[in-house]
Amino acid sequence: MLFSHETLRASRGRRTDFPIIVAIHSTILGPAVGGCRVKDYGDFSSAVADCLLLAEAMTYKAAAVDNGTGGGKSVACVPKDWAGFSRHRDRAPLFLDIADIVAELVGQYHVAPDVGSTPDDMGVVRRRTPYVAGLPLSLGGAGGTAYGTAIGVFAALELASSTILGSQSLRGATIALQGFGGVGSLLCDLLTKAGASVVATDIDLSKRQAVEQSGAKWVAPETICAQDCDVFMPCALGGILDDRVIADLRCKLVVGAANNQLARPESESLMTQRGIVYIPDFVANAGGLAYSSGIEIHGLSAQASSERLVTRITGALRTAFDMRDEGLSLTRAAYRIAEDRLRDGGYAGPSALPGPDGNA
Ligand code: NAD
Repeated sequence: MLFSHETLRASRGRRTDFPIIVAIHSTILGPAVGGCRVKDYGDFSSAVADCLLLAEAMTYKAAAVDNGTGGGKSVACVPKDWAGFSRHRDRAPLFLDIADIVAELVGQYHVAPDVGSTPDDMGVVRRRTPYVAGLPLSLGGAGGTAYGTAIGVFAALELASSTILGSQSLRGATIALQGFGGVGSLLCDLLTKAGASVVATDIDLSKRQAVEQSGAKWVAPETICAQDCDVFMPCALGGILDDRVIADLRCKLVVGAANNQLARPESESLMTQRGIVYIPDFVANAGGLAYSSGIEIHGLSAQASSERLVTRITGALRTAFDMRDEGLSLTRAAYRIAEDRLRDGGYAGPSALPGPDGNA
């Protein structure tokens, strides 16, 4: 594996004895920001490899939307019985251990919630170090990332739908939504309020009632990808767009929150051949990162941070749409935008919009 990162740190937690790894891929555009994944990795080398890959992905996500942050990630390797992450367990020692290693990096890396960690856990980290994002609202934080992610995906959808489907509004658009979790449920509300006709599902069948209460129609999870619709929105799992699913799709546009939706790099061109436009996930779903770092790193108000994330995501997508004239796929174009920004080392500033405190 090529080591293109700035820093890789690993230590054993003083309190838990669990291995904790932090990878900083790049701080060219600002402090590295990325979640802490808490997982039973089985072996240490898989944990290091995952941490390096996730940190690099954060660099490109942040750079594509001009977030003024770099890319980093941390992982805590917990034993099997921690993987389900019981709410009853005393989680504080682990997050104090994580705080120790974050503090040693004196601001090069800001830790945030990820799979297996929560805003409340970040509150524990905050007891020892200020270099933390995604804190609860009660601690002056962004209150997690689902809200920012949902409004960013919604903005990406509105732009793509007007640019690609030529519709000035989502009223009457038909949407198939996969995954009714933190992001999917917020999105479903935004979509039904905008007048779209939504069919939604979740592998957790107990969510049917909530789906129906939000004004969407419930369909069985195994049928969601083959729904006849304008837009398919993957908001559950990565790797969903494999050859079989792509052959089943009956939509014009794919845009969603899930990370790494393409099962393989060729998946996007398979969709193009079928006349389906795929919006790069790492741009569409950058809103959670942009919202929390807007508030907690750049010092913006919630309102200014929301406006900024919408501006930055739609700005990146507009540029990527224009770059299709050079024969680039949207995903390739989005990477090019990030690469150019990293090469220039340029960042437009915390907000292009004036904030309540004069922040510009
Ligand atoms: P979540 O865990 O709250 O919700 C995911 C939902 O998907 C769950 O309700 C789960 O039951 C459901 N699901 C899993 N497999 C499914 C399947 N095969 N079919 C239907 N439903 C299925 O997660 P979330 O925070 O809502 O995030 C959704 C996706 O977006 C995840 O892939 C996540 O990695 C990605 N993402 C989230 C954020 C964020 O800020 N939360 C940011 C970037 C990317």
